[in-house]
Amino acid sequence: MYAAVKRRWRNSPRPWMPLPKTLFAKHALNTPPIVRSVAELRTAVAAARRAGKKIGLVPTMGALHAGHVSLVEASAAECGFTVVTVFVNPTQFGPKEDFSKYPRTLEADVAAVGKAGADLVFAPEPSEVYPAGYATYVEIAGVAEPLEGECRPGHFRGVATVVLKLFQMAGADVAYFGRKDYQQTLVVRQMVRDFDVPIEIRVQPTIREADGLAMSSRNVYLSAAQRQSALVISRALSKTEAAAAAGERDVWKLRDILQTELATVPEVRVQYAVVADAETLREPAVLDRPCVALVAAFVGTTRLIDNLPLAPLK
Ligand code: AMP
Repeated sequence: MYAAVKRRWRNSPRPWMPLPKTLFAKHALNTPPIVRSVAELRTAVAAARRAGKKIGLVPTMGALHAGHVSLVEASAAECGFTVVTVFVNPTQFGPKEDFSKYPRTLEADVAAVGKAGADLVFAPEPSEVYPAGYATYVEIAGVAEPLEGECRPGHFRGVATVVLKLFQMAGADVAYFGRKDYQQTLVVRQMVRDFDVPIEIRVQPTIREADGLAMSSRNVYLSAAQRQSALVISRALSKTEAAAAAGERDVWKLRDILQTELATVPEVRVQYAVVADAETLREPAVLDRPCVALVAAFVGTTRLIDNLPLAPLK
């Protein structure tokens, strides 16, 4: 790589000048191009495909952190061409939610995903995704209905719509999602099955801060004190997971462990805290199948979600 930079510099109009320091920086070599239109995205993907490359897609809303980066790395490890989309999707936010204040940090995002192996960033304007006259939405029943579906009416309609559109635009072979948004992964899988979308869905583990807090673009909204309070969420999930691993099979008892721990920090206002079937999200009586403990809670005005899989018992 460095040799390539030196070669390029020797062939430049001023080869007698010292190599600029910025060219040493890794990001100077790895910054992927940003495209804004579907046409440019398709052209770039078609070229990669002609070169025989497998196409990986990482849909994001930007304000990227190590969780997002882990998805990009997974794609880069498996696919010859990785597209990261950065789009704060208006249709998945409720009218009173944080669409307008959602953090937007495109320059830093591009640098971060470049280092992680992304080949292209697709960052469209809302008008490119939803042009005037836009009228089609994806509604998913069943798994999209409880939990987030109840707390955020219309959220999964917006998610499924934009994800299907991104799949159509990019024509990728594999798409990468985080387990952090557990219900979202079920919704996307349901849609892919129901609409026969020719794409593989990979789900990557939740990346956490050293103290256990699940990484989220919304963590920047938290004050130092709120951030401390928020730790009860991962603590409560870990306690529940430990009880399940120690042999507790009564789902109501497990839910009680989860809710009791959450209640120790009154600044954390719980929306739901449940132990649910990992496929259907229904609450079984006994932990006799793969389950997930899921939490949504407000810390101040910031809404956080987190979950942990509970080991199925033999
Ligand atoms: P977002 O930008 O929040 O819409 O997230 C884009 C993708 O990154 C989704 O598939 C998320 O599930 C995933 N993601 C967000 N936070 C994390 C995390 N802490 N660990 C792993 N994946 C994450």
